[in-house]
Amino acid sequence: MREKASYDRDTRISRALRDVLPKYDIKEVIETRGSVSDLVKFRVKSKVPEKALSDYEVVVSREWKVPPSCNCPDGARRASVAGYCKHTIAVLLTNSELSCQMIELYLRDN
Ligand SMILES: [Zn+2]
Repeated sequence: MREKASYDRDTRISRALRDVLPKYDIKEVIETRGSVSDLVKFRVKSKVPEKALSDYEVVVSREWKVPPSCNCPDGARRASVAGYCKHTIAVLLTNSELSCQMIELYLRDN
């Protein structure tokens, strides 16, 4: 199902650009306790409170040891079938240190 997979991927990328980037603030969560972790956490927070959009948390491995994860429903599903949700894509696109991990979407079929 290569064609459907690439359709799903491109749909998520355009949703990240069209829906997530203009409507959410993406902030790195700085952990104050403990040592520097490989895992970096981002809060994806709605800029439109009256629309009651949920806030999400995306976790990315700096060293690419594990796939990025997001606690949205699509993110939970992606964790078992590969690919990233639109929040994860938005985080990766806006972070120059992590954007190279976007290539993962093109290396897999789904
Ligand atoms: Zn998500």
